[in-house]
Amino acid sequence: MSVPNTYRHLIAGASRDASDGALFDKFEPSNGRVMAQVAAGTLQDVDAAVAAARAQFDGGEWSRMPGAERGRLLLRLADLLERDAERFIELLAREQGRPVMEMRMLDLPVAIDTLRYFAGWADKLEGRQIPTGGFMGRPTLNYTVREAVGVAALIVPWNAPLMIACWKLAPALAAGCTVVLKPSEDAPLAVDALARLTLEAGFPPGVVNLVHGIGPTVGSALVEHAGVDKISFTGSTAVGRQIAQAAGPKFKRLTLELGGKAPQILLEDAVLEQAVGGLVMGLFVNQGQTCAAGSRILVHRRHYEDVVAALAEAARSIKIGDPFDPDTRMGALINARHAERVRGHIDRALNEGARRVAGDETLPVNGYFVRPTIFAGVKPSMGIACEEVFGPVGAVIPFDTDDEAVAIANDTPYGLSASLWTQNVAKAHQIAGRLRVGAVAVNAWAPLDARLPWGGLKDSGIGRDLSACALDAYLEDKVVTVVM
Ligand code: NAD
Repeated sequence: MSVPNTYRHLIAGASRDASDGALFDKFEPSNGRVMAQVAAGTLQDVDAAVAAARAQFDGGEWSRMPGAERGRLLLRLADLLERDAERFIELLAREQGRPVMEMRMLDLPVAIDTLRYFAGWADKLEGRQIPTGGFMGRPTLNYTVREAVGVAALIVPWNAPLMIACWKLAPALAAGCTVVLKPSEDAPLAVDALARLTLEAGFPPGVVNLVHGIGPTVGSALVEHAGVDKISFTGSTAVGRQIAQAAGPKFKRLTLELGGKAPQILLEDAVLEQAVGGLVMGLFVNQGQTCAAGSRILVHRRHYEDVVAALAEAARSIKIGDPFDPDTRMGALINARHAERVRGHIDRALNEGARRVAGDETLPVNGYFVRPTIFAGVKPSMGIACEEVFGPVGAVIPFDTDDEAVAIANDTPYGLSASLWTQNVAKAHQIAGRLRVGAVAVNAWAPLDARLPWGGLKDSGIGRDLSACALDAYLEDKVVTVVM
């Protein structure tokens, strides 16, 4: 497929260059070549996009559109995404360097399903009638109305750009918000195509706007902007903290989906043959570049050497390379700087005394590749066991008792997700209740679904994407009291 060379903003339904005409290069991870040039947004571009979103929210066609019609447009958008699935799969594989197989199995189906799920909510935003004892001796009728928060800035990361854009866009539009999307500079192409598809679906121009550009310029201008009421951000904990600091004094509504360091706990009674495939998936999907990456593998000592050997063998057998080869199971990391960072984590683990049992072979291909790597003999205090690597690197840690496993699992600043491998149902529920995370998967890794809330505790963020919880984050509850 030929990818257009230049990507521009989408503001009030029209393509726009950056106000100063500046562009930045987007590199293709699997070969290191420039694949596109993208508008480098400015403060003026952000102003224009927010003005377009405000015009639709404050009295535009969108502000008068019934929920059922908003739902119908979301369903149409889902149909168009399904129609164009192959185009999106190819765009994502090229801009992320990720195997097409993963896009086909995960990103596209979840994105489409998310649009359909929230379409169903758009005409069900019902308030409540609440009885009270009345007011100053007179009876009252009290009811709540659910109103859209306003203009939402949706700031998206590079690791699952289309899927996460849909996690934010779908509830925002179902609730009646208008939006300014800010894709990551490292993966802007599929989100750009999604925004343009909203016009074909029939969303009025200005409901969905998109400004490309560099995070500290465009993202931070959106966070500071007086015309933005709500920020939904997915990205690193460091940037999330900056956003919280900037948005706090302005009391902007915030959803922050941040980093993770998920434990995968294999209890003594787990069935190894069933668990190992899941552990490998949790470690290596998307080259380990997922917030939920199960990169801390806590194994009961009885199984420790067997699991280390099985993971090492699995890591060595993964076919790495061209994302368009249907046999490829691992692609490239997102950019040269990130691949260097991941190699830095590997070097540090070696210096700290961890034992590398897979991952030291040289790579046969160009591009930003890192071999799937497994470390044994890892102590919970080592960097590889505590820090988010965001690459294909697993740390295998032994434990002797369930209490010790829970203590190690919780001993991290993060609290996004965890996996637990066991045949003991009672134990599964008990341990799930003790893990300080937003999501626990028993005998699986991160089973994402639009109906299930997704988000974390502690340094993993505030609020939830997906499910009815995400809808709440784009709505305000207004109470009306009529004294009779
Ligand atoms: P990042 O924080 O570098 O960037 C995320 C987005 O924020 C990008 O669009 C970027 O342009 C923008 N940005 C950067 N600086 C900004 C600033 N000062 N103000 C406003 N916006 C700014 O993150 P990334 O490298 O794109 O993504 C990887 C991180 O995302 C990892 O830490 C991962 O765990 C996290 N993540 C979390 C979830 C989740 O659901 N919790 C999901 C996916 C990724």
